Parts: sequence; C-alpha cells; structure tokens
Amino acid sequence: MIYDLIIIGGGPAGITAGIYAARQKLNTLLITKSFGGQMARKTVAIENYPGFEEISSSELIQRFEKHLRKQKIDIERDEVIKLKKLKKEFLALTKSKHRFEAKAVIIASGADPRFLEVPGEKKFIGRGVSYCTVCDQALFRDKIVAVIGGGNAGFEAAISLANYAKKIYILEYRKKIEADETNQERAKRTGRVEVITNAALKQIKGNQLPERGEAERRVEMKANSERGKLHRFVNSIIYQDRETKKNITLPLEGVFVEIGSQPATAFAKGLVDFNEKDEIIVEFETCQTKTPGLFAAGDVTDVRWKQIVVAAGEGCKAGLSAYDYLRGLQQRQNNISDL
Ligand SMILES: Cc1cc2nc3c(=O)[nH]c(=O)nc-3n(C[C@H](O)[C@H](O)[C@H](O)COP(=O)(O)OP(=O)(O)OC[C@H]3O[C@@H](n4cnc5c(N)ncnc54)[C@H](O)[C@@H]3O)c2cc1C
Repeated sequence: MIYDLIIIGGGPAGITAGIYAARQKLNTLLITKSFGGQMARKTVAIENYPGFEEISSSELIQRFEKHLRKQKIDIERDEVIKLKKLKKEFLALTKSKHRFEAKAVIIASGADPRFLEVPGEKKFIGRGVSYCTVCDQALFRDKIVAVIGGGNAGFEAAISLANYAKKIYILEYRKKIEADETNQERAKRTGRVEVITNAALKQIKGNQLPERGEAERRVEMKANSERGKLHRFVNSIIYQDRETKKNITLPLEGVFVEIGSQPATAFAKGLVDFNEKDEIIVEFETCQTKTPGLFAAGDVTDVRWKQIVVAAGEGCKAGLSAYDYLRGLQQRQNNISDL
C-alpha cells in the first residue's frame, strides 16, 4: 500500500501534523520511536503552553497522544533509519526492517541530547552518566551529583534533582550564567545547588569496568533501577578552571548532561539541505525542504525558537502544506489522464 503521507516523529510537531493530516482525510502513517519527544525530558512543570498555566510533561504528552489516537491514522512504534526518494514515491526503511511508501513525507524527528565527548562519558552511560534527569534522578537519593550545562535545562534539572540528591554542582563552561533569573533563584532556594562557572569538564572517572556493549549496559541499568538501586560506577569528575588552568577533582556519583541537542537527521541525508547547526533548512511559509513533497517541522529544522508551541505550530503548517501538495499532485495527474 502507498500512503498519502508519512510523518516521522511523535513529538509536538509530528503529533500536530498527524492531527491536521487526518482531519484533511489524508491516508497517513506516523512512525515514531516514542511519544512526547523532548517533553519527556522536562523535569519541572511546563508553564508556557497556552491553556495550561502549569502542567506536568507526562500529562501534556498523554493529552497529545490521546488527541492523535482519536484520529483516523496509522501509527508504528519504530525508528526510521533511511528515507529515499524513488521515481515518484518516498520509501522509509525502519530499524525493524519494515518498508513504508508514501507520496509525501513530513520529517518531525526533533533532536537528541548532545554528547560531552570527554573520556569516561561513553563508558559510564547508564552507570552514573545520564541524559534524562526525569528518568534517572530517583536513583541518586542522598548522593552528590553534577549537572553539566548552566542553561535553563541545566538549572531545571538541578532544581528537580534537589528533591533527591544531597548536593548538586552545576558546571557551566562560560563565565556568565544565561539561565533565567527565576530558575537561578529557584535553584538557590533549594540550598543544595552550587554553581561553578568557567569550568571545562575534562574527564569522568569511576571504578574499572569490564568491556561491555551499549545494549547490555542499558539492560543492566533497567534491571538495577527496577530493584531500586543502581550500581553507580562513576566516582568523580575532573574539570579545568578556565581562568587559573588548574585541574580540579570533584568526588560524586552522578553526572547529568544538559548541554543542548543535536538534530536527528541522519536518515534524511541527500534529500535536504542543512545549515551550520545541522538543522534542516525549510521554506518559512510552507515547511517545504529542497525535495518536492518532503516537508520538515519543529526542532529538526532551522526554525529559530525551539519550543513546544512553536513545534506544534510548525507541525500544523507542514500538515496543511502536505495536503496542498498532494491536492496539486492529484490535479496534475487528473489533467494528464484527461489528455
Ligand atoms: C529538558 C528540556 C526542557 C524543555 N522545556 C520546555 C518548556 O518548558 N517549554 C517549551 O515550550 N519547550 C521546552 N523544551 C523544548 C521542547 O521540548 C521542544 O521544542 C519540542 O519538544 C520540539 O518538538 P519536536 O516535535 O520538534 O521534536 P521532539 O520533541 O524532539 O520529538 C521528536 C520525536 O521524533 C522521534 N524520532 C526521532 N528520530 C526518529 C526516527 N529516526 N524515526 C522515528 N522517530 C524518530 C522521537 O522519538 C520523538 O518522539 C524543552 C526541551 C528540553 C530538552
């Protein structure tokens, strides 16, 4: 079967695109690894989504998903690993080796957390190094931890961690903190957060580990967290004070990485143009990429503001633009068959 439209991603952009496409009666498939996207990493309440003065990310995700599932739309929980343009249709290949075809595609795959790229990071993923505060914070009750990154996400992570950890360092590379004043005040009020600026993380250290694959580490971490404990192998970090050039060791057991994100675009190479941040360049009014019939929306694109309401708005634009494109395609085909 050939779908009218495939949407890749189940965050605010993809879900909104799905709702609009289904309401235009497009035969649509939404493929996503997860629902909610980056909202699931939000540790404190969301306070800037209109209509909800304060709502937890889990509740907003549930509401988004419920709204989507009310539509006539096919949904696949899978990961797209390659997107190709055939003669007419697009072909999406997934991790579970499925092949899906459609006349138009919307990429709404958002962004993944950025890695620190320091020695020890990869070795201790799931063993003290975390990219999801909301998922892992409860495992660090009464422990000392560090949040790497002093932006809003870093401060919010620290505020939330203060409900569990006894001490939280925030390490910021730059001299000046750029998180909102409100977040800085909230962190201060916890009495558990210490901010260190001008700090370049050099290494994450821990106990010796046997060599293991990523998959095994994840299984082990899940099993341990289900038992309510985690084999924490991280035991310290080393950072350099960028002013004095001195290396300083901080004994601690958890490292939470909050240094921004990287657009999830690997599967689309060749079909779209990227800017210097690896974001997909789209035409502002329609979310159209350089390939006709291929649209992109939300954080994966070069749209300036990365926010839930913006991603939802861009998803709406992409959904309606895809509908316009498909209607044009249909009209051209009818004209040809009339000749
Ligand atoms: C810690 C944190 C706090 C934030 N706080 C706020 C806030 O308070 N207010 C606010 O407005 N915004 C906030 N944001 C930003 C907001 O979450 C994002 O702007 C928004 O989620 C972007 O939506 P999106 O749909 O474009 O992408 P994402 O949310 O990144 O969703 C992308 C989706 O695509 C899926 N996907 C990725 N690759 C593939 C693939 N190859 N195949 C299939 N599926 C794939 C993912 O699983 C995910 O479901 C925050 C972000 C973070 C990280």
